[in-house]
Amino acid sequence: MGAVDHSILWPYDEHGEAREFFYARYAHPTVAATEARLGELDGGTALLFPSGTAAVTALVLSLLKPGDTIALAEGSYFGTGVAFKTLERWGLRYVEFDQTGAPPDGVQLVWLEAPSNPFLTMPNFEAAAAHAAPVVVDSTAATPVLLRPLEHGADFVLHSATKYLGGHDDVLLGVVVCRDPAAAEELKVFRGRTGISPAPDPAWLLLRSLRTLETRVLRQSASAAVIAERLDAHPKVSVVRYPGLGGLLSFDVADGDAARRVETSTRVIVNSTSLGSVTSLIESRARWEGDRVPAGLLRLSVGLEDPDELWADLAQALDRA
Ligand code: PLP
Repeated sequence: MGAVDHSILWPYDEHGEAREFFYARYAHPTVAATEARLGELDGGTALLFPSGTAAVTALVLSLLKPGDTIALAEGSYFGTGVAFKTLERWGLRYVEFDQTGAPPDGVQLVWLEAPSNPFLTMPNFEAAAAHAAPVVVDSTAATPVLLRPLEHGADFVLHSATKYLGGHDDVLLGVVVCRDPAAAEELKVFRGRTGISPAPDPAWLLLRSLRTLETRVLRQSASAAVIAERLDAHPKVSVVRYPGLGGLLSFDVADGDAARRVETSTRVIVNSTSLGSVTSLIESRARWEGDRVPAGLLRLSVGLEDPDELWADLAQALDRA
């Protein structure tokens, strides 16, 4: 995988013509190497962005125009709706819909999340693929190890690479994987012209992290399944949301105060935002999302620790719920 190239420019060739790489805002060899690997994983043409949210913004700005409407999966990542709301000033519209059914008519883009964060619903891929509009699947929580949305009719896959793909809490990046190479080329031109371009150092760290992706995700999934089952049987837990794949789950305790006591009582599981890390992370989501989520909802991202040790930690924290 070589060392990271820190150059941001490369000389023209002996005829004075630009080579494949000439200025890092348009393309960079370390970024390109990482994109090649990401493209293989999802079965398309991948482009990196400085964060998952930058990928969201770049994709909708490049695909849509003022007056266009996005059908956004209800209960998907809070920040995606916040980004769309922020863009309303520029004439972008969005409506929410239940992604387990068909997207509404009259929209220009369908936005799914697999599974949704923090409600953990899975999209109805067939219904979405039958819609006339292009389909984006935010597959951050599933990762290409467990799901390849392009094989289910999606046109674009999006990941916050900050989560499972990076996996070690030291990379902020986003990815869009395109089914159509021509669409990828358009998005790449848009990225270079608007400057929503990734830096090489995080790209290199991501490339290194991808070497352990499958091992991490399979272990996190297996541990999450064990934890979900035990939570289900716990008297202080009213609801467990786990779609049967991946390392992310959510569950409800009685109310906001109980959730706060649980999240501040864990010792192995870190009380922090984010997900997809080698370290298990827990947080009550009402602090960010307000009434959109039950007050007692806790989101748990299961890491690589011993599942019995994680359960012992959760069980002692739940005693205080
Ligand atoms: N998509 C999902 C499903 C997420 O969970 C997140 C972040 O939590 C994002 C997108 C945004 O990613 P980033 O924080 O890298 O901007």
